[in-house]
Amino acid sequence: MSNKKKIKGIKVKIVSGCIACGSCYAVEPRVFAAKTDMTSMVKKEYQEMVITDPELIEQVKLAAQACPAQVIKIEEVNVTDS
Ligand code: SF4
Repeated sequence: MSNKKKIKGIKVKIVSGCIACGSCYAVEPRVFAAKTDMTSMVKKEYQEMVITDPELIEQVKLAAQACPAQVIKIEEVNVTDS
């Protein structure tokens, strides 16, 4: 029998339409950063990464909810821990 554990994770991206309000990188500066025009980007290290830390997931979800342009998109994924 397998002892592999299923873990819930998320991937996050920002689609076009950011209005540079600054909210997401104020809420979660580990994941989001301001570009030179003050629009937001997902930091390189999180662009393809599945985030599994529950605290960080909550923060990213909070940032997405706080986004007035609703351009932060979260994809829920299941990860198998081996
Ligand atoms: S919260 Fe939304 S609109 Fe504001 S900077 Fe972040 S992605 Fe852009």
